[in-house]
Formats: sequence, C-alpha cells, structure tokens
Amino acid sequence: MSTELNCIRCGGAETQRLSVAYESGISDINTSGTTTGLFASGNGLGIGSGSTRTRGTAQTALSQRAAPPAKKRYLKPLLLMGLLLPFILPYLFQAILPGKIGNVIAEVIYVGCLLGWIAFALRYNTQQWPPLKAIWDRSFICLRCGTTFQPDGH
Ligand SMILES: [Zn+2]
Repeated sequence: MSTELNCIRCGGAETQRLSVAYESGISDINTSGTTTGLFASGNGLGIGSGSTRTRGTAQTALSQRAAPPAKKRYLKPLLLMGLLLPFILPYLFQAILPGKIGNVIAEVIYVGCLLGWIAFALRYNTQQWPPLKAIWDRSFICLRCGTTFQPDGH
C-alpha cells in the first residue's frame, strides 16, 4: 500500500502519517547528552561529567498538532481534588448548612467527586478513547496546509 496520499483539502502530495509527524517532532528534542567539565576538589582539579537531558521544551508545532488523543489521567486530578476539595467543600457547605450536617454532606460530596472522577476516567479511557486513537492511527496530516484527514474517510 502506498503512503502517498493527496490532501483532501489542497490536493498536496506532501502528507505524512500523524503518528510519524508526531514522533519525528518529539525525537528532535528528546535528547540526552553528557557535559564534561573541570571541577575543583580538595585534591586539586578533576574532570567530571554529568548527563543532561532535554525534553519536551522544543516540540515542533507540527508534532503538537499531530499529538494523539490523550487518555484521562487518574493520579494528578485525584491528587489535585484530594488536596483542594477539603479546603473548598467544608466552607461551602458550612455556608449553606451550618453544623454537623454540612460537614457530613461535604464529606459525602468529597468522596463522590473522587469516585466520580475514577468512574468518568475509566469509562472515557475504555469506551471513548479507543475509537479516537484508532482514527488517529490511520490519520494523515498535510505538510502544506496542516489539514488532518483519514484516507478512508472521504
Ligand atoms: Zn493540504
């Protein structure tokens, strides 16, 4: 099968698979190297080396455009909610329902939010994300006008 597909919008032949465009833009900046330098120690001068790693800062615009659909994360949102909600919810519910009942409701909502996110993320990642990823897998991007398209979708 040929990978030469013309853009559905401008007809240009310079098209690339999205996954290829994405990865080639990443590899440019996902570099590691060694830095060697002189250092002064108690015994005199020495030569030291350390590894440097440059990552994520120079991703090309094309690569960003070609990024695959993201899965919903668990840890970061849960940590964020877990840390922030205990500050927000009690005040909110004490304002509406002062006393113990407000605290109980705040705790129920708190647990509900965390469980709700897990349920939402799980559902998204198992049901909505796979077809999006499948579309991404067979998508192409036009290097001339930036249109993304599926060769079988027209
Ligand atoms: Zn085009």
